[in-house]
Amino acid sequence: MPYAFSYELKFAGVQHEAKLEYGVDTPDGEGAGWMVDMPTMLRLLQAAENGDVAIAAVGDALRRMMASYSQASGCCPDCDYAMDAHARALKQYEAAADQLRQAEAAMTPESHPFVVSSSGKVHSLTCRSDPGLPTLPHPGRTVQEFVHESRMFDGVGSYQRIVGSARRVTTAELAEMLGRRSTMARCKLCQPALPGAYGSEASDVEAGARR
Ligand SMILES: [Zn+2]
Ligand SMILES: [Zn+2]
Repeated sequence: MPYAFSYELKFAGVQHEAKLEYGVDTPDGEGAGWMVDMPTMLRLLQAAENGDVAIAAVGDALRRMMASYSQASGCCPDCDYAMDAHARALKQYEAAADQLRQAEAAMTPESHPFVVSSSGKVHSLTCRSDPGLPTLPHPGRTVQEFVHESRMFDGVGSYQRIVGSARRVTTAELAEMLGRRSTMARCKLCQPALPGAYGSEASDVEAGARR
């Protein structure tokens, strides 16, 4: 939704109150996203036409107005507004990354030989299909990346979902998961040897393809 602003502008000795909007669907180029009210525009142009100021002063005034709403971020009003949210997202990212590093440090290929994907498919840890082990997308080093490269997250919850997308599990955990579900798909590429009696019933691999 566009933001509306009022800008007190002294121009050619006359005080104006310009109405501006940002976030408007405009053509690209300098000033993209901005609208300024027509009466103010016409008065500024009239002052230039009267010879009170140079025409270039009109452009300067418009640029000053836009810049005043982007001072904090140096980019645009969206970035100015998102600075706190970006700082929060960075903190949440660091916390989630720490959690993930600690969790991974506590696992070995021997202790956690399986990966269960978000769809419930069972892989061996070394599967070539790269079964979506949790990775954390960075929210953006700068507020510009955060805002303009669609990296805004809805808070720490999104990181928890990401962390939970695929899971490394122990043989015992996998056996328990298999016990709770009637069938779990077994990856055809890595064909992990499922624990105990589940080898046959929890497989979508044809018998001939087994190793
Ligand atoms: Zn911006
Ligand atoms: Zn696999």
